[in-house]
Amino acid sequence: LAPRAWTTPSAHWPDVAALRAAHDSHKGARGDVLVLGGQPAPAGGGVGMTGAAILAARAALRAGAGRVWVALPAAASYIPAFDAGAPALMLRSGDAAFADALHTRAVVVAGCGGGAAMAPWLPRLLQEAPRLVLDADALNALGPVAATQASPDTIWQTRAQRGWTTVLTPHPAEAARLLGCDTAAVQAHRLHAAEALAQRLQAVVALKGSGTVVAAPDATPYVNTSGDGLLATAGTGDVLAGLIGARLAAETDGRTPEMEQRMVAEAVAAHGALAQAWKRAWPPAANDLIA
Ligand code: AMP
Ligand code: MG
Repeated sequence: LAPRAWTTPSAHWPDVAALRAAHDSHKGARGDVLVLGGQPAPAGGGVGMTGAAILAARAALRAGAGRVWVALPAAASYIPAFDAGAPALMLRSGDAAFADALHTRAVVVAGCGGGAAMAPWLPRLLQEAPRLVLDADALNALGPVAATQASPDTIWQTRAQRGWTTVLTPHPAEAARLLGCDTAAVQAHRLHAAEALAQRLQAVVALKGSGTVVAAPDATPYVNTSGDGLLATAGTGDVLAGLIGARLAAETDGRTPEMEQRMVAEAVAAHGALAQAWKRAWPPAANDLIA
């Protein structure tokens, strides 16, 4: 494999001073994010993953989004009415909440703790959601589609032609499933793996791990230099998905594929910088990144 050029993103976002400067801002102008995921524990017992969606949504709020919704799958014995830790979040559940996701201009962050509920939602999301970040179980639901595509298929080409943002945030094992190879192969060739996925799915791809690679079709990839091995703990990926959603949502017009790739790289860099800041005091847990 030929060596590849790459560049590094800066970690100047979120720029709190710039947010304050927008004195005529209102909540509808700051960017909307809708998180789809967070499968609650099933009736009769089992594993619930509501926390993953809540972490992504809290991260989006903390990163300056104007309004943040969480849409949880309906099939559960218990659905929280609101998030006591972040009451500003608007929690919805069921198919109606999903349908809303398709009719807002919000950036949709899908998959965090989404479980089996993601597969039936995914086709419509891909066809109808203009700005879409796919993480975790949304990526797992994509798996067989991506692995069999030698070249971009119509869904991805259509999204790219419409100027719709698709961002994928796989960790190495998720990337391996998408590429139809094993995790060791992804890790041995991280730049190539991220670029292959970006090209195949005409998407911005953040391949996570030490030195997160942010690739886009026909573009020089970014390799992130912030962060720390202490990020290897449950929930930090969900926080990153929320930060990416907020970063994209903050930019309402004039977007180009290059800008979108850079915005994702900025969110990745900021996420790593948060971990480094927290490490000075104590090893961070995911919740600390957004405290
Ligand atoms: P996930 O695997 O979805 O939970 O996401 C984990 C998050 O932690 C991603 O943002 C990774 O880039 C980050 N991360 C995991 N391991 C490391 C590491 N060894 N060094 C730096 N960042 C890491
Ligand atoms: Mg994850």
